[in-house]
Amino acid sequence: MRRLIIILGDQLDRHSAVFDDFDAARDAIFMAEVPFEAQHVWSHKARIVLFLSAMRHFAEALRLEGCTVHYFALGTHPHQTLGEALAATLQTHAPQQVVMVPAGAARLNEATARVCQPHQTAFELREDRHFIATLAEFNAWSKGKKSLRLEFWYRQLRQKTGLLMHENEPIGGQWNFDHDNRASFDARGPGLLPVPLGFAPDAITHAVMIDVNAHFPDHPGELTGFDWPVTPAQAQAVLRDFIEQRLALFGQYQDAMWTDQPWLYHSKLAAALNLKLIHPLQVCQAAERAYQEGTAPLAAAEGFIRQILGWREYVRGLYHQKGDAWLTMNALDAEAPLPDFFWTGDTPAQCLQQTIGQTLQTGYAHHIQRLMVTGLYCLLAGVRPQAVHEWYLAVYVDAVEWVEIPNVIGMSQFADGGLMASKPYIASGKYIDRMSNYCARCPFKPEVAVGDTACPFTTLYWDFLDRHEARFAHHPRLALQVKNLQRKTEEDRAAIRARANQWRAPR
Ligand SMILES: Cc1cc2nc3c(=O)[nH]c(=O)nc-3n(C[C@H](O)[C@H](O)[C@H](O)COP(=O)(O)OP(=O)(O)OC[C@H]3O[C@@H](n4cnc5c(N)ncnc54)[C@H](O)[C@@H]3O)c2cc1C
Ligand code: SF4
Repeated sequence: MRRLIIILGDQLDRHSAVFDDFDAARDAIFMAEVPFEAQHVWSHKARIVLFLSAMRHFAEALRLEGCTVHYFALGTHPHQTLGEALAATLQTHAPQQVVMVPAGAARLNEATARVCQPHQTAFELREDRHFIATLAEFNAWSKGKKSLRLEFWYRQLRQKTGLLMHENEPIGGQWNFDHDNRASFDARGPGLLPVPLGFAPDAITHAVMIDVNAHFPDHPGELTGFDWPVTPAQAQAVLRDFIEQRLALFGQYQDAMWTDQPWLYHSKLAAALNLKLIHPLQVCQAAERAYQEGTAPLAAAEGFIRQILGWREYVRGLYHQKGDAWLTMNALDAEAPLPDFFWTGDTPAQCLQQTIGQTLQTGYAHHIQRLMVTGLYCLLAGVRPQAVHEWYLAVYVDAVEWVEIPNVIGMSQFADGGLMASKPYIASGKYIDRMSNYCARCPFKPEVAVGDTACPFTTLYWDFLDRHEARFAHHPRLALQVKNLQRKTEEDRAAIRARANQWRAPR
């Protein structure tokens, strides 16, 4: 064998650089389903099914093309890790070279290189073209900067791609329409919502579901209703459905939340993007086209493009710059355990019950639910960032380390001390009340900080400021909030601490 091409579960891209000089007569492909990747965090069953089903579909398409695929299916081999399965393949087939694009988890690049060494097999990492910017471009942009703010990176990529640009200027005269994109629903709620396109499990997905239930019976999450796209054709159909049915209102309501409405106007594309079933540039171009054709307002198209061209490319660059160092960051010295109700949704707090409940049911919550409900709770309660990271990586179908880790450790928990965000995203229950109807059905009251009806977010918000008073007293963007805390009497502060400790105790 000349070359062994490694394809991981989040690298299902037929146009990947690993195939550039592929010769079916002399090269082969390696793919493996191994227990460790589902167990190192306690993965949601839907997340495991999605990855394995998409992998099996990809392998089948390669075989139909005449490629040799050495595929280790779950339960048909003794290997626990990718390294073990790869070592066995190198032993049997002795390829001259192993080729891969960088893994979405830095640990896997090093592990692969380590496995190749004793076999004296050359190991080549190629550029991953399934992103809009290269890592070298990100590193050049970030070099020497004290703070790495998204906005400037986003503008550079708008210029690079020409997306929503006219003669080097942003269409509409401004780069960012964020102020148009913060609406919540009035008391009538969102009304009749378009039902997002889904796909009934086919024979391959059914077989994976049986395997996952057999191998990981006690893992969290449900499989009923699994309808995620598992092939490039299905991912294209999801994109079309989103552009036609939901993009026009995406921007306006991207921060809104509503009881029993997990999808609202969101695209549901993150999993397909992260598994590389669809290219991010194509997704952005489809949104731009909708604006040009008059079917989506500029604010919606720009807001959506910014999520992918801006945020997604930005967190990827940041992840690869810091690598595993992310996992030891804990700037706020947070040490509380993750509450048990994160694994059950069993809490009277409606916003948490809704967000965690839908997460366990579907493997999905939208950005504001992740940032300003579960993430905010952990930030305010001072949960250990590593535990928060493990939960997020486990429960979301779109979770891969490169995108999950900076979002959790950096953006939501401020454990990076301000590398990503200029201040921690703290808020009381009043924010959730403004953006949703959760509070109307909750036994707690968003404006109350102590006593039996106190909203945990409001209690923990004041407690956060109390615990970090010295740290943030002179912070340009938090000093005012600390001043408000200082207006409270010592008795009020003691009552807040006592109530906060009740929520922080393991439950
Ligand atoms: C604490 C936390 C954890 C997160 N973990 C993940 C994760 O594991 N995987 C993941 O893909 N996204 C993650 N995100 C980002 C975002 O919440 C999800 O991409 C989004 O909710 C997925 O749903 P959607 O496809 O319907 O997105 P939409 O709301 O329709 O947004 C469109 C697309 O923009 C991209 N996007 C939006 N925000 C971000 C962001 N902050 N970072 C990177 N890409 C973004 C995604 O590709 C998404 O599909 C996280 C955000 C937070 C606050
Ligand atoms: S009152 Fe507090 S706990 Fe209840 S839903 Fe509102 S924000 Fe959540």
